[in-house]
Amino acid sequence: MFHKTSLRLTGLYLTIIMVISVCFSVTVYHLSTEELNHGFSRQQQLIDHLPSYGLGGNIRNQLMNQHERDVDEANNRIITRLVITNLLILMIGGILSYYLARSSLKPIEDAHEAQSRFTADASHELRTPLAAMQTEIEVALMKPRLKLSEAKEQLKSNLDEIGKLNQLTDRLLRLARLDHNGLNKEKIEIQKIINLAMTRLLPTAEVKHILIEAQNIQPLRVVGDETSLIELLMIILDNAIKYSPPKSQIELTVKKQLQHAVITINDHGIGIKDVDQGHIFDRFYRADSARNKNHLAGYGLGLAMAKSIVDHHAGQITVNSVFGQGSVFTVRLPLAT
Ligand code: ATP
Ligand code: MG
Repeated sequence: MFHKTSLRLTGLYLTIIMVISVCFSVTVYHLSTEELNHGFSRQQQLIDHLPSYGLGGNIRNQLMNQHERDVDEANNRIITRLVITNLLILMIGGILSYYLARSSLKPIEDAHEAQSRFTADASHELRTPLAAMQTEIEVALMKPRLKLSEAKEQLKSNLDEIGKLNQLTDRLLRLARLDHNGLNKEKIEIQKIINLAMTRLLPTAEVKHILIEAQNIQPLRVVGDETSLIELLMIILDNAIKYSPPKSQIELTVKKQLQHAVITINDHGIGIKDVDQGHIFDRFYRADSARNKNHLAGYGLGLAMAKSIVDHHAGQITVNSVFGQGSVFTVRLPLAT
């Protein structure tokens, strides 16, 4: 589809270039022939006066013919040069137009490809729980006598799948909203968003007896959307808890570095392989180690969301991890002035 559009755009650019070039050539041709004819008529007048200087009519005719031939030759040379110039413009213009068309369509093509991949991944993730529910219900319906306990078990399982679907659609919606809507930004104390995020994740951490230790929290302020920034910290902390062994520790620090607030979250969990580190911020990406480890649930959308939030705040998010030892996620946000 994009190849055809590139060709069409190339044709359009080239038509514009050639129309300008041909108009310019026609003007140049007219001006040149006008100038030549003007010179020719002046010389003709001179030749007309030749007999009075003692020259015969024969020589005068020869001079006239020679001059007419010179003018015709000059005209032909102009036409040939203009045709060659236009052919060169057609060739160079064609190459440049194609290059221009490709480079202007490339970002649109990339965005379109990312969108298609995203839709395919989202549909796949939505289909999995739906297919599981369908099979379970069909098997239950095939039983001639379904016990009440079995029916309850069935409903409980369906409810779990519906919960997962809700979680996924909720994440997808929030990602789409972040892409399209602006954020309500105000000056926020980092300490406040850290406290709120930690309070919300405390029950999850307690289940695994994980201690989240907030150390060296400098009192800094950033300009941002409170709800999104809390969500950002919750995503990173949730991962730190999810991918850490029970009874481990997570350290959180906040420091000032030039004009930025630097938040680091350090866990001692499964870590991330080097090959995965470049992809974990992509939508729906999950490292195999995360998928295999006790079948940890997730969609691979958390960090994509975190990245989108950080981008909306003109910040940066990076990871530094050693597989099998732990990970450090660092978020840099511009300080409020
Ligand atoms: P969810 O959409 O529920 O958040 P997820 O946790 O798998 O699912 P992300 O939060 O986007 O998705 O993380 C992407 C992947 O990055 C994870 O699947 C995991 O492989 C890896 N990852 C992220 N944080 C950590 C961490 N602290 N330790 C080890 N691996 C991590
Ligand atoms: Mg996650």
